[in-house]
Order: sequence, then C-alpha cells, then structure tokens
Amino acid sequence: MKSKLITKVALIGGGPACATAAIQLTRSGIDIILISKEIGGTIKNANLVENLIGYPNGVVGKDFAKSFQLQLTKAGVPIILEEVLTVEQTGNKYTTKTAETEIISEYLIIGTGSIPKKLDVEGEKEAFLNGKLFYEMYNVKQSTDKKDIGIIGSGDVAYDYALNLQNIANKIAIIRRTDKTSSLPILQKRVKNTENIVVLNNHVIKKVELKDDKIILELDEDGKPITMIKDLVLVAIGRKPNHDFLSEVIISEYNSPKSDSKLHFIGDVNKNNFRQVSIAMGDGMKVAMETVKRIIEKEGYHGASGQVW
Ligand SMILES: Cc1cc2nc3c(=O)[nH]c(=O)nc-3n(C[C@H](O)[C@H](O)[C@H](O)COP(=O)(O)OP(=O)(O)OC[C@H]3O[C@@H](n4cnc5c(N)ncnc54)[C@H](O)[C@@H]3O)c2cc1C
Repeated sequence: MKSKLITKVALIGGGPACATAAIQLTRSGIDIILISKEIGGTIKNANLVENLIGYPNGVVGKDFAKSFQLQLTKAGVPIILEEVLTVEQTGNKYTTKTAETEIISEYLIIGTGSIPKKLDVEGEKEAFLNGKLFYEMYNVKQSTDKKDIGIIGSGDVAYDYALNLQNIANKIAIIRRTDKTSSLPILQKRVKNTENIVVLNNHVIKKVELKDDKIILELDEDGKPITMIKDLVLVAIGRKPNHDFLSEVIISEYNSPKSDSKLHFIGDVNKNNFRQVSIAMGDGMKVAMETVKRIIEKEGYHGASGQVW
C-alpha cells in the first residue's frame, strides 16, 4: 500500500528551480515536501558554468549540482527521492503520486525541467538501449577514453558536450544539419581552437545501426549517402518541456495559467523560457515568496512573526 502524506506545498523537481523554492519556503516556516527523481537536474550535463555570478572561475556542472543536496539537507527540506507518475487535482487539493507514495497538497509547484528531443530515425532506440547513443552527458557512465565520438546538434549543448570530452576522447565530430550554429561565440571559438574536434556541415542523419561494438551512422552529405563509424554518439538537437506525465486538467492550467492559481510551473518546464540556471532560480524564488505571501494573507501567522527584530 502507498504511504499517504499531507503537506501545505508539494514541489516536483530537484533542479535549481525547485531547490531554490524549497529552501525559501522552508526558511519561511512553510510545511513542504520536495519530490524528485534525483537532486541536481540538467546542469549536471554542463562542462563549465560561467554565467553564474559568484563563480569567477566558472563551476563544473556536476560540482554545482552536487552542492544542492548539501544545501537542501542543511535547510531541513524533506525530500522524497521517487519519480512522480501522475498529478491530479481533486477539489482544491493536488494529489501527486509515485509508485510508493501519495502526497496531498494545497499548493503545487512543478519544476520538472526539459527533456532532450529524439532524432526519430531507425535504430535509435536500440542504440540507446545498448548504451551506444546518449541524450544526456551525465548518463555516459562508460569510459570515453580514446574513443571516437559523434555529437549530433549545432547549439550550445552540442558544443558544450564536445568541449567536455576534448581531453579524454580521441576524436570528436560535431555533426550539423546545416552550416549554421546557434551556439555562443565563445564556445565556437573554443571548439575551433581544439585540435581533436571537427565540425561537419550539411550532414543529415538517416539511420543508426550497431555493429561489432561500434555505432554506424548513415547520413546524407549534401545529397550524397555516406557512412560513419563511431564508438558512441551523443544527441543534442534541442530540448522540450518535461510535462507528459501530467493530467489533462493540470496541462490545461499550464497552457492557460490562472492568476489566482495554487499551481505554479517554474524553470525550464515553462514554455518559451530562456533555459538558464539563474532564471530557474529566479522563478523558484518568486513563486516561493508569492506563495508565502498568500498563505500569510489567508491564514495569518504561519511561523514568521512579521516583527522586525
Ligand atoms: C549541456 C548543458 C549545459 C548547460 N549550461 C548552462 C550554463 O552554463 N549556464 C546556465 O545558466 N544554464 C545552463 N544549462 C541550462 C540549465 O541546466 C537549466 O536551465 C536548468 O537546469 C533548469 O533548471 P530546472 O530546475 O528548471 O530544471 P532541471 O534542472 O531540468 O531539473 C528538473 C528536475 O525535475 C526532476 N524530474 C523530472 N521529471 C520528474 C518526475 N516525473 N518525477 C520526479 N522528478 C522529476 C529531475 O530529476 C530534475 O531534478 C545547461 C544545460 C545543458 C543541457
């Protein structure tokens, strides 16, 4: 039987958006539960985060993400490390269910981030299941030492993955559909100055196949069919909001948010949000403070005295 928990605010997600909101709510004396598959989120993929103020030398994505767990524990945030399978609204309450737990809350904050887009070509799923094709850098657990790696994509993430692997891999090819990139100039410059990274333009992937511990890519190069052999492939062709597990009622509020709602979406899960840690944190902080304000207005004293010391 599932264990049943009741809380004022439930938060789904363990990335910068929900971690920030959870800490602020806990500091404000609000009863919360944070539910997430893991703590850290997408930034674990990043080679070096250089746009966060307070880190003059940048910070490795994995190290930055690791610090969240410590800070959440220090703040006393109750965490359930489980995957949320469904979220429903019944009357004026939200029910969040995992395989083991059911959490009923008055307020719900969703910060489930984004998921990578798929290539949608033959052989992709098999290559993924066999550990030859990846969408997230942090899932690459095997050694990339002296490997030949293909990175499909042309944006910041593709360039970031290539730079991440530059000192370990043998050769890295960034494989782009066109001759254009949306990547930051600073990343383009670094890639250009790195000997073992090549950028291939006008290569459209048609099929992938596994053979003798290798992954074979069938591509169209300027209209001509070609084949490439790689040890592993990373796909970085964009990301989309991660909300497929939500019920229709919840999605309808996502599409048309109500001003007086007790349901909020923060960080990368939002449509058209610029996907940045500082924006996710800002969203988390704003929604946490608005929620505290509403609770105080409705219920008065909630733990914070309101007096100036
Ligand atoms: C390669 C790469 C490099 C990047 N570099 C930078 C950078 O230099 N600077 C910068 O500002 N940003 C960077 N970003 C973007 C940054 O990672 C995101 O903007 C940020 O992580 C968004 O935070 P979030 O909390 O909204 O979502 P996420 O970090 O995606 O967190 C989502 C959380 O929800 C959890 N979750 C999802 N679904 C469920 C479910 N069903 N049940 C339970 N839990 C669930 C996940 O486990 C995760 O903990 C980079 C991204 C990538 C991919």
